[in-house]
Amino acid sequence: MVPAYIGLGSNLEAPLDQVKRAFDELGTLPHTRLIARSALYQSRAIGPEQPDYINAVARIETGLTPLDLLDALQALEHAHRRVRLQHWGPRTLDLDLLLYGDETIQHPRLSVPHPYLTRRAFVLYPLADIDPNLQLPDGQSLQALLHLCPFEGLVRLSGSH
Ligand code: ADP
Ligand code: MG
Repeated sequence: MVPAYIGLGSNLEAPLDQVKRAFDELGTLPHTRLIARSALYQSRAIGPEQPDYINAVARIETGLTPLDLLDALQALEHAHRRVRLQHWGPRTLDLDLLLYGDETIQHPRLSVPHPYLTRRAFVLYPLADIDPNLQLPDGQSLQALLHLCPFEGLVRLSGSH
């Protein structure tokens, strides 16, 4: 089993419910256990004018290969009726594979660590909820990245799950 981190995001159709359901669904994927969930956060959208996002991060343990895990995440996105209308546009559910063990993956369908991981407050702060001592495969520490990334624009929703 490999530890992996999944970023969850939604800004359409009751986003809080979308994200809470997605946490539970991650635990039902084959050969996969849900180990931890971050707090839920509200963040302002990047890109075109659209509603705020709800974001969170899950830690799982999985026996799936990275590409099988990506397939499973995309199947969950589709089950939430996600429609890609616009690049960076609104979505009912976005599931990103942030980290897969210590692996660095460059594949046409899959980049791990996820390219925006080091720069996005809505990923870094929820990651720190789960493991403040996390290190990336290249040795960068989560704490160092947090110092470079202001909490600005992010709201931590307390008692959210
Ligand atoms: P984004 O998450 O960047 O807003 P999408 O969710 O629409 O965009 O993803 C677009 C493509 O990104 C997917 O078809 C997938 O193959 C690719 N991708 C590359 N790396 C990853 C990753 N680490 N996690 C999820 N998708 C990824
Ligand atoms: Mg995505």
